[in-house]
Amino acid sequence: MFSKILIANRGEIALRILRACRELGIKTVAVHSTADEDAMHVRLADEAVCIGPASSRDSYLNVAAILSAATITGAEAIHPGYGFLSENADFAETVEAHGLTFIGPTAEHIRMMGDKITAKTTMMALGVPLVPGSDGELASIEEARIVAEKVGYPVLIKAAAGGGGRGMKVAPTAADLEEAWSVARTEARAAFGNDAVYLEKYMDKPRHIELQILGDNYGNVVHFGERDCSLQRRHQKLLEEAGSPAIDDEQRDEIGRTVTEALSRMGYRNAGTLEFLYQDGQFCFIEMNTRLQVEHPVTEMVCNVDLVREQIRIAAGEKLGYTQQDVTFDGHAIECRINAEDPETFAPCPGTVAVYHPPGGLGVRVDSALYTGYRVPPYYDSMIAKVIVHAPTRAQAIARMQRALDEFVVEGIKTVIPLHRRILADAQFQKGDYTIHWLENFTGLSH
Ligand code: ADP
Repeated sequence: MFSKILIANRGEIALRILRACRELGIKTVAVHSTADEDAMHVRLADEAVCIGPASSRDSYLNVAAILSAATITGAEAIHPGYGFLSENADFAETVEAHGLTFIGPTAEHIRMMGDKITAKTTMMALGVPLVPGSDGELASIEEARIVAEKVGYPVLIKAAAGGGGRGMKVAPTAADLEEAWSVARTEARAAFGNDAVYLEKYMDKPRHIELQILGDNYGNVVHFGERDCSLQRRHQKLLEEAGSPAIDDEQRDEIGRTVTEALSRMGYRNAGTLEFLYQDGQFCFIEMNTRLQVEHPVTEMVCNVDLVREQIRIAAGEKLGYTQQDVTFDGHAIECRINAEDPETFAPCPGTVAVYHPPGGLGVRVDSALYTGYRVPPYYDSMIAKVIVHAPTRAQAIARMQRALDEFVVEGIKTVIPLHRRILADAQFQKGDYTIHWLENFTGLSH
């Protein structure tokens, strides 16, 4: 086992990793920008190294500075968290080239899944069902037209390098295709420096359902069931649940089998998530994330597993030590992402937290790096906390989340807590009757 790990991240996820390390008896090294000198992850780590100025590009994405920090502190492994360098194959390669362990999959698998076209062709060859669309990159608008006619409008033009909901354009009819094609390509070129695009049928009422998997270095792969992440705004998740109100044990077992077989044939190691759109009883693969997800706690609650601890054990060369039969599902969990945003306009609201009092009690978990007096910096993601509840049934989980949000005090900055309250009180949400388009209609905003 490692004796010291460098955590190449900030905020709640840096704390989450730090907590797992501490329980394993591993020393931690925090890295931080000048804007994060007073951050909780810096205060709680055994050692901290400043790696650059506020801008992420010069600090949390600064590979040379992070590697120097690892070298001078004698860290043996790097946990990248999510976002920042977590899906950067070059980073994973460089870390390993310096004789350190990257806590994640191989650079080869990160690269393969980072290109959504390669991801889809790989999964198709492994027997995973896909969203109907082009076989690969579209060579021309003419080809786009032919494929669109074949799968039927509306269609979606998506960037191969896309992420965070960017580089994606809908063409409702044939008349809109050319514009969607050129806008998606321009956006992809600007955001990712790669204008390769592909086409998918635009599904009208899917749910976003994803499967959590873990694989070790010896070919053992297990899944931890699904998360329903259909509540999204601008393709960004806001509330997640495990399990999905839409699928039963048999469906979970079936898609779980398909996915674990595929990943074990790939030789995939560490944590990964396969994202699907689910409509009319069919799962259609859209992409794979080769890292820990923001919403991993809902899985941890229902499966009683510490996914970060498992990631570290696997990276240290340990075997999983359990099989699919050992994974059990208990009760229901919900996560609300609390963003420092105006709950009506969604404009970011950085500033000083005048009072902070997190909820507690049975079945309530809060993952956050906030404290009274903390200044939320304007430079990074607006998510400031995750409230996770666990209860025997979905209805009890909803009641528990409502109770937890009522207790939650965050003064001085605006948050989306009032929006979560409205969602939780909605009859349709309570019935579990929603698709990926539900929240946009609910908030009265379209994209
Ligand atoms: P990103 O990597 O940018 O998150 P994804 O491919 O994961 O992109 O898609 C993000 C979200 O966009 C999905 O969760 C879903 O809400 C929507 N989406 C993606 N593909 C389709 C599709 N073919 N039809 C309808 N919605 C889609």
